[in-house]
Amino acid sequence: MKQVEIYDTTLRDGSQREGLSLTVEDKLRIARKIDELGIAYIEGGWPGANPKDDEFFSRAKTELKLESAELVAFGSTRRAGAEAATDEVLAALIAAGTQTVCIVGKTWDYHVTEALQTTLDEGVAMARDSVAYLKSRGLRVFFDAEHFFDGYKRNSDYAMEVIRAAADAGADCVVLCDTNGGTLPHEVEEIVGSVHNELGDVSIGAHFHNDSGCGVANALAAVRSGAVQVQGCINGLGERCGNANLSQVIPNLMLKMGVDCVPLESLERLTEVSHHVAEIANLPIDPQAAFVGSSAFAHKAGLHVSAIARRPDAYEHIKPELVGNGTRLVVSELAGRSTVIIKAHEMGIDLEARPDVVAEILTTLKNLEHVGYHFEAADGSFELLVRNAAGWEQSYFRLEGFRVIMESNADGRVATEATIKVHAGGERIIATAEGNGPVNALDRALREAIGSIYPELENLHLTDFKVRVLDTSKGTGAVTRVLIDSTDGTHSWSTIGVSENMIEASWQALQDSIICGLVNSTRNQPQLALTPDGGSPD
Ligand SMILES: [Zn+2]
Repeated sequence: MKQVEIYDTTLRDGSQREGLSLTVEDKLRIARKIDELGIAYIEGGWPGANPKDDEFFSRAKTELKLESAELVAFGSTRRAGAEAATDEVLAALIAAGTQTVCIVGKTWDYHVTEALQTTLDEGVAMARDSVAYLKSRGLRVFFDAEHFFDGYKRNSDYAMEVIRAAADAGADCVVLCDTNGGTLPHEVEEIVGSVHNELGDVSIGAHFHNDSGCGVANALAAVRSGAVQVQGCINGLGERCGNANLSQVIPNLMLKMGVDCVPLESLERLTEVSHHVAEIANLPIDPQAAFVGSSAFAHKAGLHVSAIARRPDAYEHIKPELVGNGTRLVVSELAGRSTVIIKAHEMGIDLEARPDVVAEILTTLKNLEHVGYHFEAADGSFELLVRNAAGWEQSYFRLEGFRVIMESNADGRVATEATIKVHAGGERIIATAEGNGPVNALDRALREAIGSIYPELENLHLTDFKVRVLDTSKGTGAVTRVLIDSTDGTHSWSTIGVSENMIEASWQALQDSIICGLVNSTRNQPQLALTPDGGSPD
């Protein structure tokens, strides 16, 4: 089996992504998480370039114990006209204390003369001297050939001269970089192929950016042409359009191309690692992201669903479990009988022999979706709908009524107060609470009323609240749809309310949220598949 080393640069190139700012603590946490993937290298940053990266490498020495990956410090070749042995950039690299370093050097003649403002010969010497010096210090050295593809297209002789100098000086891998990200897969195959032929035994790596939307495709093309190291970032983070997305490169190499790059059991951690990194970076994953997105294996059409239940491989390009994701059936008005039966089964309700109940659920679903409900975004409310149709009735509390008062003052102060009357635990309870808005006030009043009967509500939190006005042509007479996401720290669920009155819609979603939370807390099983993939709805 062909082997390829995965080199992660999420912490260096990936952190260039607009809007992303990682603390040293974040970087340490991300490194530990990515290490779970069983990849070969994790680039930590550029020591000497900023205080944050200095602190990272200094703390990494004692705080970062990586299981499989080796930490790499990144830097550049020595400066023009300087001595490698006394160059500050190289000294900072060595001081970082890693066993492996990666240095970037220019291979596009135009950049040597225009950006560095030095001679082409000095450009070659900078690569050679720097690699040789770092090798003499006993380090493993990777040479990032910056702008290689653009340089090669314009002056292949010079681009080759630079990387040959790096290789001759002992570079353990010469990494061909598509720094501007505009190269296409057929060019990559051709160029990497000829470099591979010319350099013979020298290990070649590939570093792509996604400016043509081909970052992943280019990485795969490079491997086909002989590259043995692929650099990239989890979730395709990176400057402009991002770096080659390792969350896609890794499963494609492993599952489609038969290339070994991480242990199979680590591949099963891919979805979790991707989502965890997204969480720390505060950059949610696109639901449609290949392999790891929440919709990557979600099926909506009724026709598909019955077939998927019988033969999942007929509608999925890989087994989702291989990358730690899962098949998800999405409930909507397009759902058929089998979707409902399968979803009910996940909740522990057997509807196989109850066609009348299934038919009733389908009719209710279609009618409710017609007036604005949207159950594919509200698994929690769907579960309650199924339970009710199957004869279940919640006995936690019964609402008698509620009142919400909002007071807006001339000085801009807004106060909201809710009073709620419920029957619970054999009593009639009236409770009042203030909040920063009607939903918050109602939530507090309900908890005030039944919180002592159900102490488990303490762990239940609303994590998101979305309001959407449907059919805006009717203006204020339009229907409001409210979606609430909730969690108890272990499980997450979403609930929905629809009404012409926003507070009433909010109450419906809130009430469902609390009931789902109470149902969840009384279940012995981990969770009744409110989110069948085991992840949070994102
Ligand atoms: Zn880059």
